[in-house]
Amino acid sequence: MNQIKRVAIVGGTHGNEFTGAYLVKKLALTLLGNPKAFEQCKRYIDKDLNRCFLWQDLQNPTLSTYEEIQAKLIHQMLGPKGQSQVDFLIDMHSTTANMGLTLILSNLHPFNLRLAAYVNLLNPLVKIFSWAPPDQETAFLRTICELGYSIEVGAVPQGVLDARLFQQTEELIYTILDYLEAYNEGKTPEENSAVTVYQCVEILDYPRNESGEIQGMIHPQLQFRDYEPLHPGDPIFITFAGEEITYKGDKTVYPVFINEAAYYEKAIAMCLTEKQELIFS
Ligand SMILES: [Zn+2]
Repeated sequence: MNQIKRVAIVGGTHGNEFTGAYLVKKLALTLLGNPKAFEQCKRYIDKDLNRCFLWQDLQNPTLSTYEEIQAKLIHQMLGPKGQSQVDFLIDMHSTTANMGLTLILSNLHPFNLRLAAYVNLLNPLVKIFSWAPPDQETAFLRTICELGYSIEVGAVPQGVLDARLFQQTEELIYTILDYLEAYNEGKTPEENSAVTVYQCVEILDYPRNESGEIQGMIHPQLQFRDYEPLHPGDPIFITFAGEEITYKGDKTVYPVFINEAAYYEKAIAMCLTEKQELIFS
């Protein structure tokens, strides 16, 4: 593999996620993903920018909302998708879920896995999460470049800065950049060959009535328990009437994005993951 010379660091893809937005203002050679939404402290103006990067949508001239145009501009700047002008891309996000520091993989490239394993070794609190099976195209900004991650940090409310998380995110960026530099000098540590990845296996929506209205909340016992084991029969929701709804699955899973504010509109109450040990070479 070639040297990693050009790194894109994107923040503010969602306008109300301040950690990344203010970090890119601090770092050099960076991109504020959605300036108009950031100005208005909204996730987006017309459409979620981080769902605008499917290849066919980027090629579709009839898509012309603010974010669809912004996606095409970013794609022109950094893309084309799969043959990007940058060698590595980091897209910084924050979450209202208690996910600590999370690296989100968009593919299982051995370089991404090795670097994730290295980061995880240095800081075991950093978790590795994967949304989709590796062969499935997703619409995330991050997919423009084969190498890199989305970073999620939380729990932090939308439109709020948390100094500790800001500094931890900054440290994580520097750890990644240090690794890239070591790689370019042929000095990367190679002792790792496995990494624990939390693979999304199921998405749960809130309990709803026939007209689609939410009928319950995340159970207080589950709130802020991202990445902790959820066993069959454990409570996951509590209805407004006070009735407990339990997890009906037949094996232990590890929920993430529990009660993410931005996902109410996406019908996502949490993502259930399985803990997998990925071997790479
Ligand atoms: Zn985001």
